[in-house]
Order: sequence, then C-alpha cells, then structure tokens
Amino acid sequence: LRANFSIIQRETGFVNGLIVVLHDITEQEKIDEERREFVANVSHELRTPLTTMRSYLEALADGAMDDAELAPRFLNTAQTETERMIRLVNALLQLSKLDSTDYQLSTTWVDFGRYFHRVIDRFEMTKSRNVTFKRLIPEESIGVEIDEDKITQVLDNIISNALKYSPEGGQVTFKLQVIGPNIEVSIRDEGMGIPKENVSRIFERFYRVDKARSRKLGGTGLGLAIAKEMIEAHKGQIWASSEEGKGTTVFFTLPYEPLQEDDWE
Ligand code: ADP
Repeated sequence: LRANFSIIQRETGFVNGLIVVLHDITEQEKIDEERREFVANVSHELRTPLTTMRSYLEALADGAMDDAELAPRFLNTAQTETERMIRLVNALLQLSKLDSTDYQLSTTWVDFGRYFHRVIDRFEMTKSRNVTFKRLIPEESIGVEIDEDKITQVLDNIISNALKYSPEGGQVTFKLQVIGPNIEVSIRDEGMGIPKENVSRIFERFYRVDKARSRKLGGTGLGLAIAKEMIEAHKGQIWASSEEGKGTTVFFTLPYEPLQEDDWE
C-alpha cells in the first residue's frame, strides 16, 4: 500500500484539510519495480569494471605503456576486470535461462553420498587456503534424482563462499542427512558470519553484506541467487543460518524417496 498526502491550506495559512490517497500496489507494479531495480543493478555492476578498465587503458595510452613496472600491472587489472565482467554476464545468462518458463532439468539418479564426496574431493585437491575439511556423510547409498550439472554448480557456489570467508586454519564441515521426505545438505564454515538481519537476504540477486569485500574476492553477488533458483527448480529449499564472528551454515534440501525393495526387481 502506498499513501500520498495533500494538505489543503487557505490563503491565510491555516490548514483546514488533509487528503490521503491510498494506492494498492498491484503484483504487476511490484514485478515492474523489481525489473527496473534489476536493470539498474546490472548496469551499475557492468559500469564499475568498465570505468576501471577505461582509466587504466587511458593511463597506458598516456605513457604508462612505456613504464616497465606500471604497464604489466595496469594490463593485469584490465584483465581481472574483463574476467569479472565475463563471469557476471555468464551468471546473468544463466539466470535468464532459469527464469524462462520452458526451463527443463535433465535429471539422472545419483548416489548422493558418493557424488557429494566427489565434489568435495575436487575442492580438497585444488584449495589454496589452509582450511580443513570435515565430512559427515553416511555410508549407505542414498539415491536422489538430480540434474547433476546444476547441483554441482549449487555446491560450487556454496563451497567457494565457505572457503572465501573461512579464516586461516578454519574448518569447513560437510553434512548429508535424510530428514523425512528429503535429503538435507549443509556446509558450515567458521568465518566472519553474517549479521542476523541480513542472513535471509544473501539469496537475493546482487545482495552482498560487504560490497567492497565481495568485489575484492571477485564475487558477482549472483552465486547464491542462482543456487536458490536451481534448488527451487528441483523442488527443494535453501536457507542459511549464521552467527557473527562464529560462522555460517548454508542448508538445502532435495526431495528423496527411499527405494522400496520391490523397485529392485
Ligand atoms: P558473492 O559473489 O558476493 O559471493 P553470493 O551470492 O555468492 O555473491 O553471496 C552473496 C553474499 O552473501 C556475499 O557477498 C556475502 O556477503 C554473503 N555470504 C555468502 N556466503 C557467505 C559465507 N559463507 N560467510 C559469510 N558471508 C557469506
């Protein structure tokens, strides 16, 4: 509901009336507003790396090119910013695909525990930070129908955040459980955490708790928004809990139907 107030005033200066007009903001207006906001965000996110690149390229053209020390540094910045833009545009393309109504998953059955180990192994092999991994993953096979590429991306986004925000020597805990008709996956870190009032907002497009920090870490602000869309396309849910100074846990569920014995026949 939006309210507009008009004050009725006489020439003498006395106020003798007040008109209040209440507008019901319809669903369509809300969608339009969200769209405008999204376009403004995208433009801003693209303009920032572009203006940075422009000033570095200008400096190079103005003589920095002949400076053996400055030239490679400036080129390196231009490269980093280009890469950020490519990541951003790729993320935007992905979101627009997820938004389209004929979006289809290409699902197969996977033994989720084994699959989860495989994804974590990849991070454990390539991680550059001093962070230990703890796995709480049941041994028994848990068959879940997923679009493997999509869920891999969800896990990549969550795990890379957990690593990015982990302190030196911190631990990341990976957990898989069957809870009722779902599997629940959680990834916990011992990082800086997120203020309570912001926790639910981290799944919004372009929302970052600390813009400067996210940029410095190469973030686009879209990773968790994409993860949310992908989990919802699987009819699951995603959320986070966090305590400032203690760490963050990101959870998601996926529907799970235990196979009956006669399914094997
Ligand atoms: P980004 O590209 O900025 O990482 P994401 O969509 O992945 O974008 O995350 C959105 C924001 O949520 C991040 O900018 C950060 O502020 C916060 N965030 C996400 N994961 C964590 C985490 N594990 N610990 C602390 N903050 C986090």
